[in-house]
Amino acid sequence: AQEIRLRSRPKGWPDDDTFEFATVELPSPGDGEVLVRNTFMSVDPYMRGRMNDVKSYVPPYQLGKALEGGAVGEVVESNVEGTSPGDLVLHNLGWRSHAVVSAFTKLQPIEGVSPSRFLGALGMPALTAYVGLLDIASFKPDETVFVSGAAGAVGNLVGQIAKLKGAKRVIGSAGSAEKVEHLTSKLGFDAAFNYRDGNVTELLAAEAPDGIDVYFDNVGGDHLEAALWSLNTHGRVAACGSISTYNEEKLQPGPRNLHLIVAKRLSIRGFIILDHGDRFSAMMKDVGGWLADGQLVVEETVVDGLDNAPAAFLGMLRGENTGKMIVRL
Ligand code: NDP
Repeated sequence: AQEIRLRSRPKGWPDDDTFEFATVELPSPGDGEVLVRNTFMSVDPYMRGRMNDVKSYVPPYQLGKALEGGAVGEVVESNVEGTSPGDLVLHNLGWRSHAVVSAFTKLQPIEGVSPSRFLGALGMPALTAYVGLLDIASFKPDETVFVSGAAGAVGNLVGQIAKLKGAKRVIGSAGSAEKVEHLTSKLGFDAAFNYRDGNVTELLAAEAPDGIDVYFDNVGGDHLEAALWSLNTHGRVAACGSISTYNEEKLQPGPRNLHLIVAKRLSIRGFIILDHGDRFSAMMKDVGGWLADGQLVVEETVVDGLDNAPAAFLGMLRGENTGKMIVRL
């Protein structure tokens, strides 16, 4: 079996020195465990945080140990009653060809649907989009929503869910002209802009002549500052992530316009999706339904081979993905 370990903790951007490939003996499952052959694994922005040796909502990755993360695979050997070889499972020991796990979720395969969906549009990113928009930002029909990172795994779903739930106007930002075109022509966004084209505050204001009611923040930094200028009175921000800062060696000063929180009576609320598992079935009902009847467009960028997982991870941080970045093993 193969696994990818953390060789060194990156300062700034991760590179080849960050990762180490290892061949290990095929593990065998003990009592209450199954052996899984991983077929898809996820690379996610939060993994960059786990490479730092800091206390956070999940413990840091350990040097010299295999990385972890969402994966789906096929049970090869089972010591768990009710689970048999061939079953499809979701678990958290990605970054390796095979895993022995006791904590897993058995998945019901859906005909014509790639199991990788359980890492994206039917998984953690979908729950993040759903909870962030509906519960954290308390989105209501007829409101205007701005989402940054709009072409990514979470962002594209935020925009689509907002439209499906009756948004007046959905505006997205992304890092290339192709992504912007894609958002408006294929995903139903009313407007989108490339944040590399100029000053984000001006780019957003131009697309939001009547302001915005909700900002779903995936990026932080200049995007948050821009949103604060455009938010209407009693506007809400779901603080989901700040990917523009994850590889910064030295953090930049924050938004200069925080006084607007008071003047406009804004609410800014952070959340971690691990706390919201109770909303999973509601999300599956809505999102699964839209997927089944073709109202939701699902996007994935698939990279082949465990060997290419580090490149996929770096590529995701650089914006090479449209929709969820997936590694197929
Ligand atoms: P994405 O699929 O959106 O991939 C990351 C994207 O970030 C890239 O495609 C890139 O797109 C964009 N990006 C990278 N650097 C910058 C930058 N400097 N400025 C603007 N955009 C940048 O990842 P996810 O959908 O998985 O995650 C999106 C956000 O949600 C992240 O901040 C993540 O940490 C957060 N998150 C939070 C969770 C929670 O529980 N709170 C759970 C899951 C995700 P582009 O080409 O547009 O630059």
